[in-house]
Amino acid sequence: MSEFELIRNHFSGIGGRRTDVALGVGDDCALLRVPQGYELAASIDTLVAGVHFFPDCDPEGLGHKSLAVGLSDLAAMGAEPAWATLALTLPDADTAWLDAFSLGFARLAERHGVALVGGDLTRGPLTITVQVQGLLPTATAILRRGAQPGDLVYVSGTLGDAGLALRLLDAGESVSEFLRGRLERPTPRVELGLTLRGLATAMIDLSDGLAADLGHILTASGVGAELRLPDLPLSRAVSERSAADPDWRLPLAAGDDYELCFCVPEQKRARVTALVERLGIRIQAIGRVQAEPGLRCLPEYGSIRESIRDQEQSGYDHFPDAR
Ligand code: ADP
Ligand code: MG
Repeated sequence: MSEFELIRNHFSGIGGRRTDVALGVGDDCALLRVPQGYELAASIDTLVAGVHFFPDCDPEGLGHKSLAVGLSDLAAMGAEPAWATLALTLPDADTAWLDAFSLGFARLAERHGVALVGGDLTRGPLTITVQVQGLLPTATAILRRGAQPGDLVYVSGTLGDAGLALRLLDAGESVSEFLRGRLERPTPRVELGLTLRGLATAMIDLSDGLAADLGHILTASGVGAELRLPDLPLSRAVSERSAADPDWRLPLAAGDDYELCFCVPEQKRARVTALVERLGIRIQAIGRVQAEPGLRCLPEYGSIRESIRDQEQSGYDHFPDAR
């Protein structure tokens, strides 16, 4: 099968049909219409086999996740997803694999009305790059830098599930469907992000772990925060682990959860609770922004806290040896 047949068979007409796509897959560029009064939010992520996923993982889940991580970035700005492009590097043209991959991608794209408008196909080690574009009414994006002392810190969903799944898989242990789903098919919190426009002062999605990602908000905002560890929302799978041997590294420092972490002024608390309740998404207040820089935990987290700070608070670093 030629490259063009592969594109036609697996990557044409994927996702939502949108009137703002003047030209999609098939020419040198896609042509897209940004409505007047809107800004374009753009983000790109690469997933590398053996680094971000197991090379033999379920291809449908991989198609889902490769779009989900981008949609999560859009969600973290409060942007409405619109378009995506996909650069795929494949060791070979395995059509069964491509069918499953494009199905996982397409289902998530349709759910969010995202049109796949172009991409690239090359041969090489399995690597997936997805760029997403979303729309935001001008100057309404929720940035990392707006947190104010006194704001409440919230997270959505539960923390540490993907990290626990990864830990079990790495150890060759069995993984429940729930945990596997949390690792391989994260749910981007797009509706939550949109709902928080005009309410959250700062927001980020949790890709590297709460301590690292909240740390980015705090640094960008020039503030600090205090977290109440017992308030961290945990699934039963993670809390059962912690009951035996309290280990806050999972919820604090494990990545890949793709939940949202955001800050809300006290006086907007009731409004946020009411609006989010309608979405059927769980959110939990876990602490408070403070003027003093740094991230503090209650109860005091002792020596493990130091190890998180040193090794894991900065998140996964692909270039620890950069000169
Ligand atoms: P060019 O050589 O101009 O870069 P390509 O041959 O790479 O064009 O791609 C032809 C068309 O197919 C382009 O419109 C491109 O955006 C689209 N395309 C290529 N690969 C993919 C893919 N994996 N998913 C979606 N569209 C793709
Ligand atoms: Mg090309």
